[in-house]
Amino acid sequence: MTTTQPDPAAGAAVHAADRAHVFHSWSAQGLIDPLPVAGAEGSYFWDYDGNRYLDFSSQLVNTNIGHQHPKVIAAIQEQAGKLCTIAPGFAVDVRAEAARLVAERTPGDLDKIFFTNGGAEAVENAVRMARLHTGRAKVLSAYRSYHGATAAAINLTGDPRRWPSDTASAGVVHFWGPFLYRSPFHAENEAQECERALAHLEDTIAFEGPQSIAAIILETVPGTAGIMVPPPGYLAGVHEICDRHGIVFILDEVMAGFGRTGHWFAADHFGVTPDLLTFAKGVNSGYVPLGGVAISAEIAATFDQRPYPGGLTYSGHPLACASAVATINAMAEEKIVENAAEIGEKVIGPGLRALAERHPSVGEVRGLGVFWALELVRDKETREPLVPYNASGTANAPMAEFAAACKRGGLWPFVNMNRTHVVPPCTVTEAEAKEGLAALDAALAVADAHTA
Ligand code: PMP
Repeated sequence: MTTTQPDPAAGAAVHAADRAHVFHSWSAQGLIDPLPVAGAEGSYFWDYDGNRYLDFSSQLVNTNIGHQHPKVIAAIQEQAGKLCTIAPGFAVDVRAEAARLVAERTPGDLDKIFFTNGGAEAVENAVRMARLHTGRAKVLSAYRSYHGATAAAINLTGDPRRWPSDTASAGVVHFWGPFLYRSPFHAENEAQECERALAHLEDTIAFEGPQSIAAIILETVPGTAGIMVPPPGYLAGVHEICDRHGIVFILDEVMAGFGRTGHWFAADHFGVTPDLLTFAKGVNSGYVPLGGVAISAEIAATFDQRPYPGGLTYSGHPLACASAVATINAMAEEKIVENAAEIGEKVIGPGLRALAERHPSVGEVRGLGVFWALELVRDKETREPLVPYNASGTANAPMAEFAAACKRGGLWPFVNMNRTHVVPPCTVTEAEAKEGLAALDAALAVADAHTA
């Protein structure tokens, strides 16, 4: 692997320039200390001081194909030489090919693709399509969810990231999805959790008025809110409820899609086809901003003779589409989705379960593919979280100390609230996965020190 020669002075200059003018997401600007990054390759990135990090976060769970994949870089370079930008109204080879490749992989009849620049815009447009299709206004989403940070998407987001921006005016209603470890329904097993979660959703719909509900949006496997794999039958049950009430079923696969769970889409694990499916991140690993909505034949037909009143200047941007074509083709050629399934099942899952046996701070391990969460607790019996539920993981002492210990061990973790997520690229090798598990093992000793 090529790493850049250490150059701390250059790193300090980048840091100073950043702090002078860059306004960072989700941050108190005066309290942050962003790491200057000098380069990246595959599962690693490195700073200017000579420290290399195994990226167990895939950045924001988007570098499914790893950093700097040569085929994707070549495709972007080639496209840049041909056509950098063109308005969405034109027909373009790479846009049509990207749409075909996505449509070929999405489940069922989700065969029309509306491109956006990322996940939140995909959610915004999916909701708008559902409202126009049904002529209804309300949208239901789960409390333990994240759907993006734009106006409607942040209202749909159920978890506390919504609080500072919640206008509660967008016709959004939240309900509880299934989560056996902290069951809102006091269920004792998955079958009970599933049955009670579906009954709760039915009740919510009955009291909101089914005729007023345009859509139910769910992450197929909720991501940043905790990687909670739904019990068997839950998503099929939600789909049946939606069909019965004429409600559009939207699955948000911005994080779970494109190989993350060991299938092209997480919906494939559960045999469900929603009416609309949102995607972003893994579609091109974020090399150029891209997202979109895959649309069923029925909803596409709504806009066949009547215009869809929405659009984006950069919808189906040629550089983004070229990178998506190269990414999807490389994932297929190099069996990257299969790799995610195999490493998850054979190395990461068993490795994390072994850590849970040894460490008193690990309350639960859950996940699939390269999409895993460790829930850190003060007490395994009571399940009291290591930090309160609405605490920012990175800003809160035990979790911040745990994250710092990971970084000292050469591992870049994903930390949110009382959880660390193990979400390496889908290309992660067995040796890399084992290296990361060893670093986690050492860092968990720091979390153990905070247990009861
Ligand atoms: N939906 C889900 C499930 C996500 O995980 C995210 C991003 N983490 C989004 C939507 C928003 O995507 P973006 O940040 O690209 O707007």
